[in-house]
Order: sequence, then structure tokens, then C-alpha cells
Amino acid sequence: MLDNLYRTVIMDHYKYKRNFEELKGENIVRVHYKNPTCGDVMTLFLDLEDARVRRAAFLGEGCSISMASASMMTELIENKPLKEVASLRKGFEDLIRHGEEPEKIDLGDSLSLQGVHPLKARHNCALMTWQALDKALKNTKEYTTF
Ligand code: ZN
Repeated sequence: MLDNLYRTVIMDHYKYKRNFEELKGENIVRVHYKNPTCGDVMTLFLDLEDARVRRAAFLGEGCSISMASASMMTELIENKPLKEVASLRKGFEDLIRHGEEPEKIDLGDSLSLQGVHPLKARHNCALMTWQALDKALKNTKEYTTF
């Protein structure tokens, strides 16, 4: 039952990708990322302001897990301070790598990807978009000092 519900959420994000567009402007951070194990590719766009994600968007193509995860992440991090984004990232990685549901962190729709945990070969699909985020924010103090 739960599996079906989760699958429905994932397929909904895959079919109707949220924030699936290019962000344009001088201050937009853009990062290209690919997952060699599955062939997924994506470009992440971030509009940052005052140590906060004002907007996040992406373009790309790949398997349902990678695209759904990116769609979910852009929704999840929008309007969040970078410090909180860093803790969301850690919570999501624990969910995928260790199958642990974080206690104090609300992962929103991203929680539906918990079922990826036993599928080790697909971990990179779920994590790709967060790795792109890491790459984009690696020089940002508020994100890395968490
Ligand atoms: Zn994939």
C-alpha cells in the first residue's frame, strides 16, 4: 500500500516535473551534472539571495528516479536558508544510503524515494541532484559550515 503510494508520487514528479526550466540572469548559479552509472544528466539552476535559495530549477533527462528526485528537491529547497538546505541534504543522503527516515527533518515528497535504499545501483540516481547542489554550493560558507 505504502509502496504504491510512493510509486504514485514518484511517477507524478517524473511526468509533471516541477521547476523544469532554465533560470536566466547574471546571478544564477548553474551546475551541470551526470550520473555515469545510469546515463542521467541534468543542469541545476539556483537563484541565491542572502544565504537563502530564492528559486531552484532544473533541466535534464534520465530515469524516473533521477528526474523525480530533482523535481522534488527543487520544490523542497525553495525559499529555504542554506543552513537548512544543508541539513535536508544530509537527511536525504541518510535516507537513501542507510534507509533511515530522519526524525526532525521534513523531506516532503523526497521521502517517497526511501524505497530506493535497497536498490544500491540506483542510489546515484536519487542522489545526483543533491550532488549537483553540493557542487553549486561548495564555496558558500552558510552551506558548508553546517
Ligand atoms: Zn538513473
